[in-house]
Amino acid sequence: MSTMITTECINCGACEPECPNTAIYEGGVPWNGDGAAHPALAADVYYIVPEKCTECVGFFDQEQCAAVCPVDCCVPNPDDPETEDQLLAKARRIHPDHAFATDFPSRFRKK
Ligand code: SF4
Repeated sequence: MSTMITTECINCGACEPECPNTAIYEGGVPWNGDGAAHPALAADVYYIVPEKCTECVGFFDQEQCAAVCPVDCCVPNPDDPETEDQLLAKARRIHPDHAFATDFPSRFRKK
């Protein structure tokens, strides 16, 4: 499931540079994808674009936004469940030039 930012966000901006997929945007700022700009998904707080969120699968064993958020408001979206395979496929689409090793990092494999 993609990660989401709740309305508890205090707009500190700590998460945005940590995302390996540039899936995080400031409230009111359009997001970029497929070569086009799209309307912001939130007006007042930072938001995560589900189409770009891989829960950091392929790059890290924990969602990097959740790791740095000072108020713990980056949480799994229960309405958007995705498997590790689906998330890795998304990562491959976003990073076509990146070679993912067979033992790629993933929160699903975290011990
Ligand atoms: Fe909001 Fe947390 Fe991101 Fe800060 S780190 S902008 S509080 S979601």
